[in-house]
Amino acid sequence: MTVASVPYLIIGAGPTGLGAAWRLEGRGIHDWLLLEGGLVPGGLARSVVDEHGFTWDLGGHVQFSHYEMFDQLMDDLLGADGWLYHERESWVWIRNRFVPYPFQLNLHRLPDADGARALRGLEAAAAAHTGARPSNFGEWIERTFGAGISELFMRPYNRKVWARDPEQMDWRWIGDRVAVPDAARARENMRLGRDDVSWGPNNRFRFPRRGGTGAVWHALAARLKQRDDGRESRLRFGVKVQRVDTAARTVTLADGRQVGYGTLISTMPLDRLVEISDLDSDLSDASRDLEYSSTHVIGVGLHGATPEMLARKCWMYFPESNCPFYRVTHFSHYSPNNVPDPSSQWSLMAEVSESAHQRVDRNGVVADVIRGLAATGLIDSYARVHHAWHTRLEHGYPVPSLNRDRGLTRIQSALEARGVFSRGRFGAWKYEVSNQDHSFAQGAEAIDALLDGSEELTLNHPDVVNARRPRAVSPPVVRA
Ligand SMILES: Cc1cc2nc3c(=O)[nH]c(=O)nc-3n(C[C@H](O)[C@H](O)[C@H](O)COP(=O)(O)OP(=O)(O)OC[C@H]3O[C@@H](n4cnc5c(N)ncnc54)[C@H](O)[C@@H]3O)c2cc1C
Repeated sequence: MTVASVPYLIIGAGPTGLGAAWRLEGRGIHDWLLLEGGLVPGGLARSVVDEHGFTWDLGGHVQFSHYEMFDQLMDDLLGADGWLYHERESWVWIRNRFVPYPFQLNLHRLPDADGARALRGLEAAAAAHTGARPSNFGEWIERTFGAGISELFMRPYNRKVWARDPEQMDWRWIGDRVAVPDAARARENMRLGRDDVSWGPNNRFRFPRRGGTGAVWHALAARLKQRDDGRESRLRFGVKVQRVDTAARTVTLADGRQVGYGTLISTMPLDRLVEISDLDSDLSDASRDLEYSSTHVIGVGLHGATPEMLARKCWMYFPESNCPFYRVTHFSHYSPNNVPDPSSQWSLMAEVSESAHQRVDRNGVVADVIRGLAATGLIDSYARVHHAWHTRLEHGYPVPSLNRDRGLTRIQSALEARGVFSRGRFGAWKYEVSNQDHSFAQGAEAIDALLDGSEELTLNHPDVVNARRPRAVSPPVVRA
């Protein structure tokens, strides 16, 4: 039974789906429908308030915007007073100490023997540089950083994040995502014992004053929901698409109803889309080229005052095996409102990756994380722990695997030939353009491409978009 038919149907109210809806509205097209399986907007960029009143993101979310239109929208959605501004202070915990990021520029902070070995490797790698293309990410790491930094930091850290060996991954996604080294500068910093940090006034980020990252997407959804003609909202929550028939151009919902469409913008994970579509038998082998890791997010609410040594730190990387997490975010620093009582509470949020190559004990991971916080000195006593909150994201990181692009090319061309445009973090499966700003832009650019035939820059030319330096954000100037 078909209950409706719309020219534009969108699956998912994460940044990509909302970006598509926002652009349709902006271009004067109002006959779209967005179906979201969950009950709130934001997708992976939503926030949760737990039973103790602590707010959590699904992993530490920081906005690195590459788009003016995105920044303007953020200003507009939460208003000048809706944001807090921070310097992006990030650190690596290694050898029982903090080393500022970028790691390779601060080798003097390491024990002498490690620092000397890391520098030797870096200089040898620079001297041996031939410009030959590496065959995988592991090789890229070794050739770019040399043996010392590879073994100390780059390999173990990346293995933890991606939950697989770097040899199982491509290297071409890197672009501006991994800071590449300058051996001469590293040597000079070592000689002078000089810190060379990546933060400062030009390296700020902002975070919603209230409600976590998800506040942004709530605000946008609320705008898109408003209709002045009194008809039912075009943004529907708790409506899961269970089947997509690309030949008939219909989707079937969990309650058996069907919705017809002219064009479908899907932002659900691409492997799942293939699985529930009539193209499954043709594309299931291509779908196996798409690999992902799952992410456990463990929020730890803490009693007392934030320790001085963590006060300004935003997030920290953990390459070593004395803790299960690869990253911890000092989440109450992003906004004091992320805890119910900032005068006596603070919070940390840890991320742990899981895959078939890196198993995680789902029942034991919270205790392992708390032990890891103690082992790495982030908490000085178990008595500090107020409570822990845990969630597992089945699709956490879209892995730039060796055969990813082969699979993507086949799947996307088959879908697009039938009016289905799969976009976003797991819709397009391109890690290099999978942050909130990229995802939002992918949704908006897909609409422009459909209406005008314009190029989808974010999807098709990630390097061009990522070469734009993330815009420095500043608090608004208050004039007396
Ligand atoms: C651990 C982690 C850390 C991150 N850190 C950052 C960061 O620091 N900065 C940053 O900018 N970004 C970060 N991100 C990325 C950010 O979360 C994504 O860019 C963004 O959420 C992707 O938006 P999307 O709309 O493409 O997909 P999603 O957010 O995944 O949204 C897809 C939506 O589709 C819905 N859906 C799925 N299947 C169906 C169905 N069958 N029917 C109906 N609805 C369906 C889902 O419920 C979901 O709401 C991080 C992500 C993770 C996981």
